[in-house]
Amino acid sequence: MAAYDYETHEYDCIVIGAGGSGLRATLGMAEQGLRTACITKVFPTRSHTVAAQGGIAASLGNMGPDHWQWHMYDTVKGSDWLGDTDAMEYLAREAPKAVYELEHYGVPFSRTEEGEIYQRPFGGHTTEFGEGPPVQRTCAAADRTGHAILHTLYGQSLKNNAEFYIEYFATDLIMAEDGTCQGVVAWNLEDGTIHVFNAKMTVLATGGYGRAYFSATSAHTCTGDGGGMVARAGLPLQDMEFVQFHPTGIYGSGCLITEGARGEGGYLTNSEGERFMERYAPTYKDLASRDVVSRCMTMEIRDGRGVGTEGDHIHLHLNHLPPETLAERLPGISESARIFAGVDLTREPIPVIPTVHYNMGGVPTNYWGEALNPTEDEPDRVTPGLMAVGEAGCASVHGANRLGSNSLIDLVVFGRAAAIRAAEVVDPKTSNPPLNQASVDAALDRFDRFRHADGAVPTADLRLEMQKTMQDDAAVFRTDKTLGEGVKKMEAVAAKMADIKVTDRSLVWNSDLMETLELDNLMPNALATIVAAEARKESRGAHAHEDYPDRDDDNWRKHTLASVEDTEVTLSYRPVHLEPLTDESEGGIEMKKIAPKARVY
Ligand SMILES: Cc1cc2nc3c(=O)[nH]c(=O)nc-3n(C[C@H](O)[C@H](O)[C@H](O)COP(=O)(O)OP(=O)(O)OC[C@H]3O[C@@H](n4cnc5c(N)ncnc54)[C@H](O)[C@@H]3O)c2cc1C
Repeated sequence: MAAYDYETHEYDCIVIGAGGSGLRATLGMAEQGLRTACITKVFPTRSHTVAAQGGIAASLGNMGPDHWQWHMYDTVKGSDWLGDTDAMEYLAREAPKAVYELEHYGVPFSRTEEGEIYQRPFGGHTTEFGEGPPVQRTCAAADRTGHAILHTLYGQSLKNNAEFYIEYFATDLIMAEDGTCQGVVAWNLEDGTIHVFNAKMTVLATGGYGRAYFSATSAHTCTGDGGGMVARAGLPLQDMEFVQFHPTGIYGSGCLITEGARGEGGYLTNSEGERFMERYAPTYKDLASRDVVSRCMTMEIRDGRGVGTEGDHIHLHLNHLPPETLAERLPGISESARIFAGVDLTREPIPVIPTVHYNMGGVPTNYWGEALNPTEDEPDRVTPGLMAVGEAGCASVHGANRLGSNSLIDLVVFGRAAAIRAAEVVDPKTSNPPLNQASVDAALDRFDRFRHADGAVPTADLRLEMQKTMQDDAAVFRTDKTLGEGVKKMEAVAAKMADIKVTDRSLVWNSDLMETLELDNLMPNALATIVAAEARKESRGAHAHEDYPDRDDDNWRKHTLASVEDTEVTLSYRPVHLEPLTDESEGGIEMKKIAPKARVY
């Protein structure tokens, strides 16, 4: 057994992650007098949320009529009828409240002439249950909305005496014999000390796993650490086959050009200069939902109408817009286009390509953020002591495809819900039960094994192999053949973790070891993604299967659960929640409005 001294800390709640969801949960828990600590591997305001540009969806109706029911309908349709209806209602209903709360906490939103929060159109957000024109629902602080939210929430958390453990890397959950989560083991990157956190409630807010792919808009820190910890604790991941590609990553670097660019009037063209989206989505054109636009772009490229010398990308035009609009509404992307594509967007189009952007899948939860460990008889069984929020979780409000600006709202609505729920289930007056020492020891053993790993495969090489495999075989277009081959390749790649080579044995700022632990977290996420994709014989949302081009509600309107042990993935399924929280008799939505139909934009 590995011998490490460690310090033990006791809290009511610990939150792992200081992105939008983690900070909103931390703030809410601290506000309610729960002793709360937030553990984060990067400085809070460097979390990936800082990069969110476009905005946050809520039916405030500042720019024209809007209703939460319309927002809910768009979310249901956007999810391609795979989202949980109760959670989607909760999201749409609570969204305005959550945004006004942010405003009152101090988020500097852009303003209308009348001084109200400015809202812009975003793909898939419409009026009249998808029958009316696009709606302006996305609240924005210029094109730096995530930055504004993150800084405000961090300040508010400090004000409410939340404690922060910054640049601490959480390695593994501590699980009691009876399956209750008791906290987490973490490594202080700065001084190399080990810390054991004993908490009545542990919240995973660790973000997505975009870095399982070669080209991603997300930060290099988005390595699915929460998913990795959950898989090792023997708990399942849900709907991992649904990976969102953003239509407009800058060709080459992957850096994001916000959908707000098309919201403000930008449009896409192929090598013939044609605005091809008019052909595929006659009503909403360039503002159809992301999976649709990404697929259409890929189709144009495959049909030989891509731009550039290799014919492998598409043009995004903003050069027709008034320079004042670009300067006022999209200053950040003007800069990104100049730096990453060498383009002056007042004059030339930007070269773009669909790029991995968001993971719809994650730790299954109910709409309170409580993590689920479903059985066949009890598909909504809760894992006591464990929650997941933000991109790490799967509530599931995005189903098979997330609408733009619906993630930031998911972060704050469910971060807040988790805090409300924690105040109900956590009793600050009781003392914390003793930890399961075997679980702590197992975490330390694993840590030590990687620290002294002396195999033949350097971490960076294996990571690249995984990223290329996922990019080639589990991207926008999927067939039985590519997925089948991909599963075999990924199993072989994952098996090489046993032969990993770490060269630095120190404990202080050992980035080699940290990247290896991150790779070990990415691996189960990647495996679950490709195995679940191979199994799903239909097309739905982001999962577009060439051999099964249609959605098959009879057989596949169900959530995938993937349990990963080493290279072995076991799949099972759980029903989608079809009932809303309230129906029309209680002022809620009419069921017939949200019944499945073909998804056209
Ligand atoms: C470029 C870009 C632009 C986007 N724009 C928008 C937008 O305009 N609107 C919108 O709705 N959505 C947008 N999204 C999506 C949205 O921003 C993300 O889904 C969301 O910010 C994720 O937030 P999070 O709280 O789940 O996690 P993150 O912000 O990713 O934060 C994760 C946190 O977990 C911590 N962490 C992770 N692992 C560990 C570990 N092992 N130990 C300790 N700490 C750990 C990190 O330190 C970090 O604090 C965008 C995404 C990208 C990539």
